[in-house]
Amino acid sequence: MPDKLTVYNPATGEVIKSIPQQSAKEVEEAIERSHQAFKTWSKTSASERASLLKKWYELIVEHKDELGKLITAENGKPYQEAVGEVLYGAGYIEWFAEEAKRVYGRTVPAPTTGKRIVVTRQAVGPVAAITPWNFPNAMITRKAAPALAAGCTFIIKPAPDTPLSALELARLAYEAGIPKDVLQVVNGDGEEIGNVFTSSPKIRKITFTGSTPVGKILMKNSAETVKHVSMELGGHAPLIVDEDANLDLAVEQAMVSKYRNAGQTCVCANRLIVHESVKDEFAKKLSEQAAKLKVGNGLEEGVNVGPIINKKGFEKIVSQIDDAVEKGAKVLVGGSYDRNDDKGCYFVHPTVLGDVDTSMNIMHEETFGPVAPIISYTDIDEAIELANDTPFGLAAYFFTENYRRGIYISENLDYGIIGWNDGGPSAVQAPFGGMKESGVGREGGSEGIEPYLETKYMSIGL
Ligand code: NAP
Repeated sequence: MPDKLTVYNPATGEVIKSIPQQSAKEVEEAIERSHQAFKTWSKTSASERASLLKKWYELIVEHKDELGKLITAENGKPYQEAVGEVLYGAGYIEWFAEEAKRVYGRTVPAPTTGKRIVVTRQAVGPVAAITPWNFPNAMITRKAAPALAAGCTFIIKPAPDTPLSALELARLAYEAGIPKDVLQVVNGDGEEIGNVFTSSPKIRKITFTGSTPVGKILMKNSAETVKHVSMELGGHAPLIVDEDANLDLAVEQAMVSKYRNAGQTCVCANRLIVHESVKDEFAKKLSEQAAKLKVGNGLEEGVNVGPIINKKGFEKIVSQIDDAVEKGAKVLVGGSYDRNDDKGCYFVHPTVLGDVDTSMNIMHEETFGPVAPIISYTDIDEAIELANDTPFGLAAYFFTENYRRGIYISENLDYGIIGWNDGGPSAVQAPFGGMKESGVGREGGSEGIEPYLETKYMSIGL
């Protein structure tokens, strides 16, 4: 493994920075430091940890513009969207600073009068995290904040495309007074570092956000030392537009869900399942809006859709479009792209596909790109069956003004996150996470600190 990692701007191909990579031995040393630091950090008071987290939050908000520019540089998303991510990510730190003070135990009536039962909570131990490039900032704070709040120490291995946001977050954490061994960043090969993490008995929990195949490897490897695991994995979100939906609202929210971050989010609407009676009008309105989006370098004024992160991501998107068109889909808008292999820059124009059917790969695979395939249905049970016909279960959306139908649809969708007339349901206050092969555990909400806590009970004999 080279000792330097070079980070490129996906919109221009320019080098942003080269940073040191850590060897397996250095990662082991980081784990040892994490283990030692846990002994003191886990014994600090919740108020002390809360106040350090609050300072970290304030520093991030103060530096939101620089952090936003850094996200745009290494990830490519438009600057305003990047600043939105910084504030969203910081919100988790503020939230868990508050939740740190509400880690309650309980007393339970004992089976005899001669005993008392007291239940307490304590930090699970040193935590190792591995994160993806699509939210270089928020995917880290969503994990680090509850871990630190619970009294765990934390080591993060960010994605190699976007490690600079992680380093900046850590720098601000140290400025806030969080000890260096309590929060550490290591960079290097995912598989190698993942193996060091999972095989170490000193790491008591692995928290991962990324693809389902890698999540499965980490779960298997974590079994060796019976670690706690949290997995935020892939998605394949359906978005149902029912016959009595408010179509303008459905189009507006589908745009938010589909084209944010150039379609590279785990909760992006991946399959637009639209009632036959409104399909044409919905497709027309969506295509009109998608055609207005400006594609380019996210630092330029007015750009709505940035580059695709890398060649592998780009080729997957293009192959899905080609496969769909070959099998009879109609390109209603977009379908084109700008490719520069010399610079490593790839842009896909916002695309809407009509006449999609279930023989097409796009109906079965996560796209991770700005492509909206529309498939129609006549009966709501058919739409629900289509929506659930996937190993994934992260986010699902539906649009209806009819509350009876709305309750029926929501109760029958096998998804961890449901947006009813809402294309952007993610919020720090809510438990984000998936069912089935989309993951294990939840991040955010009052549930978000639970995965970092052990339960202990004491039976006192009188
Ligand atoms: P990925 O390929 O799984 O990579 C994610 C991270 O895992 C990177 O840091 C990567 O580092 C590391 N990694 C890769 N192979 C590894 C291994 N064998 N052992 C340990 N670590 C390994 O995913 P991605 O392409 O970056 O991210 C996109 C995926 O993330 C999508 O499927 C998306 O749905 C999912 N996602 C889910 C959520 C959620 O909350 N559910 C949120 C965002 C994204 P290296 O490249 O250095 O190996």
